[in-house]
Amino acid sequence: MKFTIKKVPVSEKEKRDRAEFFAEDTGQYVDIEAFVKQDIYDEFIDYKCLNCKYEEELEADIVFELFDPSFEEYPLLTCPKCGKDKFVPLDIYNAKTKE
Ligand SMILES: [Zn+2]
Repeated sequence: MKFTIKKVPVSEKEKRDRAEFFAEDTGQYVDIEAFVKQDIYDEFIDYKCLNCKYEEELEADIVFELFDPSFEEYPLLTCPKCGKDKFVPLDIYNAKTKE
């Protein structure tokens, strides 16, 4: 089953902050102006609970860290609200509740 990954462009200010933070944190030289000119996106997945309908937007990086596509069709998570393993991507929720 497919689910949507939303790509949200990172603002210029946020890019500048990240580059400055990286430079400070690692002590490496970073060409901040060149970095700011790049198109950088953050990726998010909308999640919804099949049990209690709680919704949350999660960072795709975090979701994929917990996801093993050889075992699961989609990343199934534990709902932070009701604690059941019914927290699924919104597209999966819509597909399952339409039947
Ligand atoms: Zn829930």
